[in-house]
Amino acid sequence: MKAKLFSFFLLLLFSGCAEKKSCPTLPKNVILLISDGTGLSQISSAYFYKKSDVNYSRFQHIGLITTSSSREDITDSAASGTAFASGTKTYNGAIGVLEDSTQLENIVEIASIKGVKTGVVATSSITHATPASFYAHVTDRDFQEKIALQLAKSEIDFFAGGGANFFNQRSDALNIIDTLTAHKFTIETSSLTSIEAIKSNQKQGFLLSNDGMPKMSEGRGDFLPKATMLGIEFLHQNETPFFIMSEGSQIDWAGHDNDTAYLISELIDFDELIGAVLDFAAEDGETLVVVTSDHETGGFTLSGENYTTKEGEVYSSYSKLEPKFSTGGHSATLIPVFAYGPGAEHFSGVYDNTDIFHKIMKLTGWDKN
Ligand code: MG
Ligand code: ZN
Repeated sequence: MKAKLFSFFLLLLFSGCAEKKSCPTLPKNVILLISDGTGLSQISSAYFYKKSDVNYSRFQHIGLITTSSSREDITDSAASGTAFASGTKTYNGAIGVLEDSTQLENIVEIASIKGVKTGVVATSSITHATPASFYAHVTDRDFQEKIALQLAKSEIDFFAGGGANFFNQRSDALNIIDTLTAHKFTIETSSLTSIEAIKSNQKQGFLLSNDGMPKMSEGRGDFLPKATMLGIEFLHQNETPFFIMSEGSQIDWAGHDNDTAYLISELIDFDELIGAVLDFAAEDGETLVVVTSDHETGGFTLSGENYTTKEGEVYSSYSKLEPKFSTGGHSATLIPVFAYGPGAEHFSGVYDNTDIFHKIMKLTGWDKN
């Protein structure tokens, strides 16, 4: 009882309010949206190239994170995904393990003990570094076949993305679709279905391409918002608390390719995902939405088009944009965080990527006994 009373006072202190009725409610559900490889310039592009309203404008609480990994100034998606999922720095390439390969407990493992239903969605292979950080433990992100096996045995209740080849076209000839089924998953490989079709399944998985999902320009359509909302509906049946991580994976790939049109179409798709999720959270009232990125890719900037005067001098136009890249890799720039819903105010300020995990834990209490 003493301990309970103490933690109640801690909760009051943490909420920054003394009277129960003036305290903001704490979140029951958490939606984490990650746009891989997205810095402020990528987000800014929506304000110049998206024809409809930009959903990033709907946030009131905005922060910035530092993202360096344990060994490098510039992180990769594995180390940064692990920082979000487990709250600890590790080296580039590591998924859910420390320097000495000790396994780190992730948010999915922690929350599922509390009866929280969990899901991951990505436009990459579902075994790719970012989603894998939320359920797998491997010393190298390239071990995607190993990661596929770990997904089957994980606490994840819902997943959607690509990567079928890592399950059924493997170097060891095993069929991990069978393993998924043995672990209570129903697997669809052709298309997303309705909630009616899946609601009575224990666990649900969608593997809709052999490796990454198609690009937006190749007809991916509304897969990302649709799969995420289907996942939320599936996990949140009977008001069950849930955690879902949904990733716009290919903003990063466009950055690596230095391909502006690719980048903007993927960023706009991610903004549509934000819109769908915020509509749900506004209605639900008990859901915290956190939107961030693991790092910036491409050193992207919204610079003006260069032009040469009659005198031969080169200027940069202020009336015509010509976005440019400064690298084919990642950069170390600070990354924005946007939050909405109960507890969102705690995501303002400048902090480290590992704090995303710790803030979610403090607000939900999922790691408390
Ligand atoms: Mg990724
Ligand atoms: Zn990358």
